[in-house]
Amino acid sequence: MAPRATLPPHTPTGLLVFQPLKRRHCAECRRGPLPLLVLEDAAPRCLDCADLGHLVFLPRGDTALTRRSREESALSAVVVRFNRRKSRYERQGVLVEEAALARAEERCLADAEARRRRRVRDARRRAAQDALFAEAFAAEIRRLFPGCPADRARAIAAHSSERGSGRVGRSAAGRALTDMAVTSAVVASVRHLDTPYDRLLMSGVPRHEARRRIAATVETVLRGWTEAGLGSAG
Ligand SMILES: [Zn+2]
Repeated sequence: MAPRATLPPHTPTGLLVFQPLKRRHCAECRRGPLPLLVLEDAAPRCLDCADLGHLVFLPRGDTALTRRSREESALSAVVVRFNRRKSRYERQGVLVEEAALARAEERCLADAEARRRRRVRDARRRAAQDALFAEAFAAEIRRLFPGCPADRARAIAAHSSERGSGRVGRSAAGRALTDMAVTSAVVASVRHLDTPYDRLLMSGVPRHEARRRIAATVETVLRGWTEAGLGSAG
């Protein structure tokens, strides 16, 4: 078999190293069977005789690492194996200098570290945006309900603007801080904290009936919060 003769045109040029399918021995030092060989004048040679013995094998799979290893390596070779079923050579990996591989790994790690730092920065920026949004939300609550205690307004705003919560603060209306969105967040809070609503639900009272029973209480609390601001700072 003379593999080079059957190499398809798209096979990468440069040094080629073969993973032989048959038991082959080095034409020069007679060592074998060889796991990897180079063909020189159609005769197999071991990597040592071909002066490639110092290279290390990097299996295919990590594109960035492969590309960088070859960039870093003064001498490199592509390792191919013949696929009988498909009648073509397939890349198995590359042979590169060990120091080049180490440098390439460092560059890839540095990239991973850079990506990690960027994720941290993004998360921090989102948290800052969330904090700003919650602040604006709380300010709107205090504008509509001046009597609502400041820490309560902050708690309502934080709760309803939690990322990924699907709560009103995350909705389009909530982000636009419409009066209705702000009010519905406040009503939800009052319902759960200032009325027996949750207890009613737990005891089996249907939701609409529970809401009907607490409506007056909710109304009273909201009126108190709306009016308190008129006479005092709240
Ligand atoms: Zn040899």
